[in-house]
Amino acid sequence: MVQSGSSETVFTYGAPQLKFGSGSSDEIGFDLSTYGVRRVLVITDPGVAATGHPQRITDQVNAAGIEAVLFDRAHVEPTDESMVEAVEFARDGGPWDAFVAVGGGSAIDTAKAVNLLCTNPGDLLDYVNAPVGRGRAPVNRLAPLVAVPTTTGTGSESTTVCVLDVLEQQVKSGISHPLLRPTLAVVDPRLTLSQPAGVTAASGMDILCHALESWTARPFDSYARKTPEQRVPYCGANPIADMWSEKAMSLLAGSFRTSVHHGDDEHAREQMALAATFAGMGFGNAGVHIPHANAYPIAGRVRDFHPAGYPDDEPMVPHGMAVSLTAPEAFRFTFEAAPERHVRAAELLAPGAERPDDLRDFLPGVLADLMRDIDIPNGIGAVGYAEADVDDLVTGTLQQQRLLATAPREASADDLAGILRRSIELW
Ligand SMILES: [Zn+2]
Repeated sequence: MVQSGSSETVFTYGAPQLKFGSGSSDEIGFDLSTYGVRRVLVITDPGVAATGHPQRITDQVNAAGIEAVLFDRAHVEPTDESMVEAVEFARDGGPWDAFVAVGGGSAIDTAKAVNLLCTNPGDLLDYVNAPVGRGRAPVNRLAPLVAVPTTTGTGSESTTVCVLDVLEQQVKSGISHPLLRPTLAVVDPRLTLSQPAGVTAASGMDILCHALESWTARPFDSYARKTPEQRVPYCGANPIADMWSEKAMSLLAGSFRTSVHHGDDEHAREQMALAATFAGMGFGNAGVHIPHANAYPIAGRVRDFHPAGYPDDEPMVPHGMAVSLTAPEAFRFTFEAAPERHVRAAELLAPGAERPDDLRDFLPGVLADLMRDIDIPNGIGAVGYAEADVDDLVTGTLQQQRLLATAPREASADDLAGILRRSIELW
C-alpha cells in the first residue's frame, strides 16, 4: 500500500468472543469454568431482575461449582453515584475473578465500571473522559466480563465504552478504553421475547442508527495519521465495519416491523438480535456521529414525556428514540459527503422502494416511513421540545465532540440548529 503524506493508512478491528442463539444463556457456568474462575459477581438492574433471568443465570453458575453473587441494583441510565454504589458493593465483597452483566446497556456499562475499579486503583472520575474526568488509562488488565444483553440494541456487549451521567457537572460522559470490551457476549434471543412493542421500536431504531451512522461515518483514511499510542477504538468507516453495518441493515429490513407488531415471532426476534450484534460489531469499531450526539441533550433535558412500554415513574426519552428523532434530518445534512452511501443505505433498508427525484430525500423518507409505522413520535416536538429549546439542545450536542469528530461533514452550531429545527416535526 502506498503511504500518502500524513493520511491514516491503518484501521483496527476488535470484538468480543460471541455465543449466539436460543439457549446460549444456559451455558454461562460452563463458559466461566473455562476461565478457571472461582468467584463471580452477577450485575443487573431491578427491572431485569424481575424477569428472573439474572437469578436463573446465577443459580446455573453456582451449579457449575463457581460461587456467584447477584447484585441487582444497577441504575437504569447509570450515574456516577449509582456506579460508585455498585463499585463499593463489589470492592467490599471481593475479590472477584470475573463479572457477568445481565441486562440492557445500563447493567453492562455498570459492570464495565465495576470491573475497571475492582482491578485498578483510583476512583471513577480518574477514568472518565477529560475534561469531565481525568481521562486516565487503566494500568492493570481487567477480569473477564461476560455480557448478556436482554434488550436488543444497545450494542454495549460489543463496545469499549461505558456511558454515565456525572450528576455534579450535569453532563453525560463516559469511559472509553479497549480493555473495557467484554470478553464474551452471550446473545440469547429468548431473553428479548417479553420486550414490549414500544421498547422494541426504540431499541430497534438504536440498532438501525448504529448501522447507519457507522456506515456513513468519516472514513478512517481521511484522518491524520496517528501514532500507535494515539489509536482509538472508534477509527471511522472501514471495510470490516462496513460489512457488518450493511448486513445489519438488510436484517432490519426483513424483521423490524414484524418484531414490533408481532413480538412473539421468534424468527423476527432472532433476526433483530443478529442485527443488533452485527451493528455493534460495526459501530464498535467505526463509531457513531450526529444522531447520537443530538440524542444526549434530547434525552438529558426531558421535561414531561412518558413513552409507552417503559416504567412510568420518571419522564424519559429512551436512548434509541432520542437517537432516531433527528436521524432523518442528520442524514439529509450528511448526504453530500457520500451520496452513494446514503442511497445504498436507503435501498438496503427499503428494498424495491422508488427513488425520489432528489436523492437527498431518499434516506430521510425511508426512515420517516419506518418511524411512522412503528409509532416513534413525530419529531422532537412530540417529546416536548419547541423552537425556543433549540439553542439549549445545540449547546448539549456540542459537548459530544468525540462523536461529532466521526461525522462525515463538519457540523457547526448553525448546522446543528438547522437539523434540530427541521426535526421538530418530521412528517
Ligand atoms: Zn446507541
